[in-house]
Amino acid sequence: MADTPQAPADEAARLEALARYQILEAPEQDFDDLARMAAHVCGTPIALVSLLDAERERFKSRVGWDVTEAPRAISFCSHAIQGRELFVVKDAAADPRFAQNPLVLGPPGIRFYAGAQLLTPEGHAIGTLSVIDRAPRELSAHQNEVLVALARQLIHVMELRRRLHELRESNSERTGVQRALKETEERYRDLFEGASDLIQAVSPDGRFLYTNRAWRDTLGYSAADVGALRFFDVIHPQHRGEAADVMQWVLEGGDVDTAQLVLVSKDGRRIVAEGSLSCKRVDGQPVATRAILRDVTERRRTEERLRVSEARTRSILDNMLGGLITLDGAGTLESINPAGERIFGYRPEELVGQHLGVLLPDLPGQDKAAFLKNEFPKALGRVTEWQGRRKNGEAFPFELSMFEFDTEAGRHFAGNVRDVSERHEVERLKKEFVSTVSHELRTPLTSIRGSLSLLASGILGELPSEAQEAVSIADRNALRLIGLINDILDLERFESGRIEMNMGDVELQDVLQRSVEAVKGVAGQQGIALEIRNPGARAWADADRLVQVVVNLLGNAIKFSKAGQSVTLEAEQKPPFVEVRVIDRGRGIPPALREAVFERFKQVETSDSRDKGGTGLGLAICKVIVERHGGEIGVLSEEGRGSTFFFRVPEAAARGGQARAS
Ligand code: ADP
Repeated sequence: MADTPQAPADEAARLEALARYQILEAPEQDFDDLARMAAHVCGTPIALVSLLDAERERFKSRVGWDVTEAPRAISFCSHAIQGRELFVVKDAAADPRFAQNPLVLGPPGIRFYAGAQLLTPEGHAIGTLSVIDRAPRELSAHQNEVLVALARQLIHVMELRRRLHELRESNSERTGVQRALKETEERYRDLFEGASDLIQAVSPDGRFLYTNRAWRDTLGYSAADVGALRFFDVIHPQHRGEAADVMQWVLEGGDVDTAQLVLVSKDGRRIVAEGSLSCKRVDGQPVATRAILRDVTERRRTEERLRVSEARTRSILDNMLGGLITLDGAGTLESINPAGERIFGYRPEELVGQHLGVLLPDLPGQDKAAFLKNEFPKALGRVTEWQGRRKNGEAFPFELSMFEFDTEAGRHFAGNVRDVSERHEVERLKKEFVSTVSHELRTPLTSIRGSLSLLASGILGELPSEAQEAVSIADRNALRLIGLINDILDLERFESGRIEMNMGDVELQDVLQRSVEAVKGVAGQQGIALEIRNPGARAWADADRLVQVVVNLLGNAIKFSKAGQSVTLEAEQKPPFVEVRVIDRGRGIPPALREAVFERFKQVETSDSRDKGGTGLGLAICKVIVERHGGEIGVLSEEGRGSTFFFRVPEAAARGGQARAS
């Protein structure tokens, strides 16, 4: 429509401002009162409060005309908001802008119009307070003034309403935030209540602001009890000082990640709790200390027990006289007790991490790793003797017995170590003494025997028969003594290596024959038959020493056989050894003594050497001789049915003729 004015320059801001007031949808008593006052003062039948939006004019208050809105295009208001003066149309029918306006031509039949702008504090006109008459007229200056003042009041009221509304909105927003906060807090509270940790909040003056269920259950207090409690009531009396220090630190702004508090329950139990503490502040002032703790009493107790048991074990290990080492599967020393360190002459901790090999001497041409790999398993479960090396290089003998054990980290070995160098020395001295004494005895004994022979021969005069008997007993005993002394000296010479071995390719048949020759007489006297079985074995040995061994074994076999039984002597090639066996059908040897009989002076029956003759050294000598050959000796036996003594020495082929000087 040609008469519609352009939108004002501030249209966008104006609409925005309008929107802020338009939220006040409900009819307003205040507006109606002001409209009524305007109509009354101006003496018009109609008064309107209009708000003008982009499309239409809305009537917020109406006096004398009951419509709620009209299109913006035909509204008088859209003209009125163009200026800032009171907008007056004295006679619309005579005004070309309005003459054809439906509101002029039709109801309400406007002829007179005066509109005062509703100006926001920012100066935007969002609508009008207008008075309308159905006849042309004018307003007095006073009426003009009042209309403008009423319009100002109106916007004033709107403004107040708007502020109030905003205030209410922000208030309800705040309560919303508060509700959300409360929910979160409740959620946290649920979490805290259900937690297995002990949670507490304590005011700076020591009152409990909050404790969770785990806290109360652990300390044995009910929720009602807690109200009367003070922080230090739950701290163990002996630990209040530490607790006070921690609290002080936290209140002063320090955070504690792991603190230990020793608490005391209602029934007096000591509870060790560990956890973190922090302080809640408002405007820089502490309002509560918060702690999340865990009951570690049981853990601490276990740790303590472990510590005590460890200390006990350690003190046992430290004070043991014997050495104790532990090794990992690769032979690295994991631990060694002080006695062990002393044995090898090392300072504490010097050996840990080193290989077992450092404890052994370096022998020329020996691959130590290979040696250990081979020899080490032999020490498992039994006592073995090793050559050791002290830190200062000194070689010494030690005994080692090992056992295996498994841990999560794998296989380990533990070993008892005993320095036997002193024992060896004592044994050496003992042997030396025995050999010296024996030596000294041999000459006089030989001369005694000579004298006895003279007496027995009658050269020195015929002896009465009783004297003859006494002389022959003395001679037999002197002979036995000489035999014993010879055996002792022999053994000593073999053990000390002072006897030269005369090694060579030996025809066994020869050895067996010579041996049988030597015992034939005795065997005959006792009614024992001897038989030889030999397919023609050959050994790398000292023939005379082998004869000595075989004669000894045959002698025993004959001694412990009965008349009419036979003794078999056989040799067999068992590469890389030759095995010689002396088999009797006599009384046999009990299992427990089958190793012991090779020791000195060990007998099956204590009366054996007295009854059967012998020195008790025969088998011990056989053993050293066989071992000097690099062989071994043993016995198989069935009690009551006989024994088979056997020994093995290297076969001639295995030694290939190489001279083996020992
Ligand atoms: P001895 O010189 O006293 O015979 P040995 O060392 O040769 O000493 O033998 C030790 C002990 O072993 C003997 O006293 C005897 O008790 C037992 N012994 C040895 N050989 C036999 C055997 N063939 N049968 C039964 N017991 C034997």
